[in-house]
Amino acid sequence: MGGFRSLAVAEKAVTKDGMDFIALARPLIREPDLPHKWVNHKTDKAECISCNKCFMPGMTRGGIYCVVRKKAESQAS
Ligand code: SF4
Repeated sequence: MGGFRSLAVAEKAVTKDGMDFIALARPLIREPDLPHKWVNHKTDKAECISCNKCFMPGMTRGGIYCVVRKKAESQAS
C-alpha cells in the first residue's frame, strides 16, 4: 500500500489499522533520508507532493529523480 506522506498516517496503518508494513517509493525519491527523519522525529510530513513527474525522466532519459526538487535547487543556485 502506498500513498503515505506522513509519519502519523503510516504509524496508524501499522499500529491500529492492521497492516504488517507500509511501502514508500516517491517520498524516497524526493527524500532518501525520510525514514531517518521519521525515526528521529525531525518531520512528520514528506516533502513529496505526489505529482508523478519523477517517472518521465526515467522513461525518457534513463534515470528517476525528483523533478520538483531539482527545479527548486536550480532556481536557488
Ligand atoms: S517528482 Fe513529484 S512525485 Fe516525484 S518525488 Fe518529486 S514531488 Fe514526489
